[in-house]
Amino acid sequence: MYKEVILKKNKEESILRRHPWIFSGAIDLIDEEIVDGDIVSVYDSRKRFLAIGHFQNATIAVRIVSFEEREINQKFFTQKLGDAIQLRRNLGLFSPDNSICRLVHGEGDGLPGLIIDFYENVAVVQCHSIGMYHSLSFINKALQKNIADLKAVYSKSSDTIHTKEIAQDSFLFGNTNVPHIATERGIRFSIDWITGQKTGFFVDQRENRTLLGNYAKGKKILNTFCYSGGFSLSALHSGAKEVHSLDSSKKAIDLTDANISLNKFRGKHKSIVADAMDYLKNIDNSYDIIVLDPPAFAKHRDKRHQAIQGYKRLNEMAIKAIKPGGIIFTFSCSQVVDKYLFTNTVIAAAINSRRNIRILEQLHQPADHPINAFHPEGEYLKGLVIQVD
Ligand code: SAH
Repeated sequence: MYKEVILKKNKEESILRRHPWIFSGAIDLIDEEIVDGDIVSVYDSRKRFLAIGHFQNATIAVRIVSFEEREINQKFFTQKLGDAIQLRRNLGLFSPDNSICRLVHGEGDGLPGLIIDFYENVAVVQCHSIGMYHSLSFINKALQKNIADLKAVYSKSSDTIHTKEIAQDSFLFGNTNVPHIATERGIRFSIDWITGQKTGFFVDQRENRTLLGNYAKGKKILNTFCYSGGFSLSALHSGAKEVHSLDSSKKAIDLTDANISLNKFRGKHKSIVADAMDYLKNIDNSYDIIVLDPPAFAKHRDKRHQAIQGYKRLNEMAIKAIKPGGIIFTFSCSQVVDKYLFTNTVIAAAINSRRNIRILEQLHQPADHPINAFHPEGEYLKGLVIQVD
């Protein structure tokens, strides 16, 4: 039915364990006319069917969308998105006080190459493979079929895939003003997916922001790498005494300021455009809580060592700078730095700074960013809440 990809002898093992990627080195033969984005059927060296996926001439050559022989059509996408959306409903993420969540998280929802974030009845779709990009009209209809009050679907893939076919990011269905206002746990956020980073908002920190709220009452807090101010807003919402939000990007600080105004927290908030390391070097010990949520320091394994040094320096500075008894929320979203390595790095930072720390909480990505158990690479966000004695 689909064009064929045949694996080398004994290269079917990972796919039999349901890992959803096929690396180019595992492939023996492919149909001559295969082009990027094609749907392909994958067979072992003895021509036994293994799976169906999207082909791309890259290190990850096939991303598997089905381990059964079936047509990848409208019905397929309607079903898959229906399942993904039902999970988020079950998690209580469609509620009067929460209208922001991740609807589809790639491999975690059995749809490698597809990210969909949801902001108050608007779905922002980001494709990471050409095959998914070619499926956009199925995806668009599947969203409409599964969400009764869907207002718009926006496709934003020009940052994430590189093919001549992408003319422009645009609305595929409906329309809405951007920035668009949506609610996370009772806090309103103004979200701009057109000029903003990724799909416009860091949806993955929702639960960790809520947790910060538990610690925040009456406290003075520094939120570094604040982007649109998620942690700051959650702290203020829970009664923080004073919050300083810091980012090196003026654009990010403008987003934070807009969200502070939107929620009427102006009097207790200050914005700072600065490099986080420079700022931490020069502060007194007046903060009760510091949040460290830097961008991924390592995007590839070969940058891991450098990344570890970066996390160590950053955490060391915060540990040295915090008030005795203070709390640090520290994160890493580098997939190649796992939770054990990250914990050891924070411990190494504490040793260097000659202060005792205790680990109060171990944090991770939320349930709307599920990890496919057969694809451990899907685990990327980790964090710690530490108390510095
Ligand atoms: N905590 C945010 C997400 C952080 S994204 C949230 O909850 O939404 C990472 C942010 O770090 C980006 O906004 C980026 O502009 C900022 N950044 C990158 N390098 C930085 C640096 N050296 N100092 C301060 N901010 C930096």
